[in-house]
Amino acid sequence: MANTFNGGIHPPEEKRYSEDSAIRALDPPELLYIPLSQHIGAPATAVVKKGDRVLLGQTIGQAAGFVSAAVHSSVSGKVKSVEPYQNPVSGKPEPTVIIQNDGLDERASELTAHGDNWDRIEPEEIRNIVAAAGIVGMGGATFPTHVKLSPPKGKIIDTVLLNGAECEPYLTADHRLMLEFPQDVINGLILIAKVFGAGRLGICIENNKPDAIEVMQERVKGTNVKVFPLKVKYPQGAEKQMIYAVTGREVPSGGLPFDCGCYVQNVGTAKAVFDAVSRGIPLYQRIVTVSGPILKEPANLMVRIGTRYSDLIAACGGAVEDIVKVINGGPMMGLAQSSLDVPVTKGTSGVLIFGAEDAEVKPELACINCAKCVDVCPAFLMPTRIAQCAEYSNFDMAEKLGALDCIECGSCAFVCPSDRKLLHYIRRAKTQIRANKAK
Ligand code: SF4
Ligand code: SF4
Repeated sequence: MANTFNGGIHPPEEKRYSEDSAIRALDPPELLYIPLSQHIGAPATAVVKKGDRVLLGQTIGQAAGFVSAAVHSSVSGKVKSVEPYQNPVSGKPEPTVIIQNDGLDERASELTAHGDNWDRIEPEEIRNIVAAAGIVGMGGATFPTHVKLSPPKGKIIDTVLLNGAECEPYLTADHRLMLEFPQDVINGLILIAKVFGAGRLGICIENNKPDAIEVMQERVKGTNVKVFPLKVKYPQGAEKQMIYAVTGREVPSGGLPFDCGCYVQNVGTAKAVFDAVSRGIPLYQRIVTVSGPILKEPANLMVRIGTRYSDLIAACGGAVEDIVKVINGGPMMGLAQSSLDVPVTKGTSGVLIFGAEDAEVKPELACINCAKCVDVCPAFLMPTRIAQCAEYSNFDMAEKLGALDCIECGSCAFVCPSDRKLLHYIRRAKTQIRANKAK
């Protein structure tokens, strides 16, 4: 086992703010803003309208096709409206179900709770439950899990890995999840592996979480699940890098993990799978790390989907100075937000706030050909060359240089002494290359 991958960086971890904060359930607010698009693929279609009474866990948006995901109410109450509202991922107003919370948390019972019989459920039924529960990749990727659990015919998956690396600075939600709900995570892994008949099961955790490694190692004793402690390096949690670190296998260029017999899923998603199968609970809440150097009381909160960032920050005592920057996710791959009014979605692993000092954007200088960006690129690309191509709209060349293999980790931009906005240019190249292909 390599235990790590080539390239990568070690940014300041900054997990000290919240790593010792036990998960605290946040009371849902009066109004919930639940977007119908919280996943990769087609937005869900609203199946409720203004004035409807809804229950906790009731389907309010139906998946619009196979690559889509159902959306559920995160409270009981009344639908105030279905209207466009700022989406934290697209950055645009998107159809959103706004629900007036009645404070009763009256539950819907759309999903069957299989209780202790959870391990007797057949693979096809597991997939169906996962789809009905609206589960998506909770590490931030938000790809519908039922789709990921349905690889093309003929693909053999023998290895299922859970991603508990949480290599992004500041984020500690997965760390706390593994400490506080280890058995749920392991049971979710067993369910996922059952879908493929995979016999090699692993939980991958960076070495900066020794308590989580210890808890998991204790829990998996006597099972076929192994815990893989990994070197602390960013982006250790990226799928391809994790697979290489643990198995030595390489996902081919343009390929997916199943092309080398592997499947990777975030630890939070595994718990969501277990919750759905055993407890009949769809995905209407998640753990969010609320942190940043200017937040008074950083925390790991269990949050109902649709709660606005402003409510989270208020629940953490507010900021000690003016908030200049807000990020959805981690600082490396997360998305800056223009407002605190946006809601938590299924992919919100963290909400980070920064003051003027940390939010300063340095001016871009000319490339000095130092090759630092090349040295750290875990995808073995030449970020500087691809970025130059994008800058001059030479997208054919950017594609030849492997732009589509970029995993958007931001390591190149992090080390660049000239503060080149390398990731910005490369993302532009990828978008344009894909648009050209679709013509
Ligand atoms: S080119 Fe892409 S994969 Fe390589 S370091 Fe930059 S962002 Fe990461
Ligand atoms: S790290 Fe920055 S300055 Fe150095 S080669 Fe890459 S783009 Fe140029």
